[in-house]
Amino acid sequence: MSKVKKKVKVIKIDVDKCNGCRACEVACSAFHAKPKYSSNNPARSRIRLIRDPLKDVYLPVYAGEYTKAECTGKEKYVIDGKEYDECDFCRASCPSRDLFKEPDSGLPLKCDMCEDDPPQEKPLCVQWCLNDALTYEEREEEVEEEVKLEDVEIGLESMVDKYGLQKVMDTVARMAKKE
Ligand code: SF4
Ligand code: SF4
Repeated sequence: MSKVKKKVKVIKIDVDKCNGCRACEVACSAFHAKPKYSSNNPARSRIRLIRDPLKDVYLPVYAGEYTKAECTGKEKYVIDGKEYDECDFCRASCPSRDLFKEPDSGLPLKCDMCEDDPPQEKPLCVQWCLNDALTYEEREEEVEEEVKLEDVEIGLESMVDKYGLQKVMDTVARMAKKE
């Protein structure tokens, strides 16, 4: 499969600069409120602050993909003398914790880099982090070219021509059962 260049957007996090103010949570939840900016509720934010003031832990984490199964890689981390819990660095919305779930519906939340209408030049959490704990970066990465729907359609058409519609449908049904 051929490779193509893709723009990747990331938020870099410097935990040493985070003072736990939670402005990022307020900005994110207000931007995604309906109507926009009508309310703010950190539980609806796509960036959450993992905090344990007694251990001086302030770790902002922004939401990644939803995963329907719990993972098995549970480790504790000690970095610069601070102990972090097993799931602290994980960005997933997953069954083992309440993080990154819409409080009313329970639906998973995922960071959209504030591309929602109107798209922001810089993510709001980054704009509102006055301590520069969050910085925005865009970089180009080479990724596998995605299979385009038109290509799939052309492929299916030629298979139907060659083997007949019924045979192709039976095969697809068999493959779906295996998944
Ligand atoms: S706005 Fe910045 S300093 Fe405040 S909690 Fe969020 S990441 Fe930390
Ligand atoms: S980039 Fe936007 S959507 Fe993502 S966590 Fe920051 S404020 Fe929320």
